[in-house]
Amino acid sequence: MQLSRSERREPDPRPRVVRTGGGLRIAAWRCAGCQTTRTEPVLRCGRCGGAPRPTSLSPRGTLWSWTTPRVGPDSGVPVAYLDLDDGGRLLVRLAGPVAVGARAAVTGETADGDLLAEVQR
Ligand SMILES: [Zn+2]
Repeated sequence: MQLSRSERREPDPRPRVVRTGGGLRIAAWRCAGCQTTRTEPVLRCGRCGGAPRPTSLSPRGTLWSWTTPRVGPDSGVPVAYLDLDDGGRLLVRLAGPVAVGARAAVTGETADGDLLAEVQR
């Protein structure tokens, strides 16, 4: 039997969404020293050793590339890299094929914890 990540109590490095009064955002940490932004929590900035402070990023961006895996448990579900307007690149799942360069936004998470995105028309 294979245990899930939470059953193994391992930290999950995947980016997370946060829901605010203004809608959905991407959880992030910005270094107080050099302003480097990361989407996973770290104790110290890997660039300057400064202290990361919690912040959040816009869920909107531009699709950099995408593909549809044909092997594994999620075969047939398109995945893409989304370049966020606030900086950074996220791996997201999509509802269907899209065009590179399309505008998209993270809209939530799958039950498994992956980020979901939809093309903005
Ligand atoms: Zn730093």
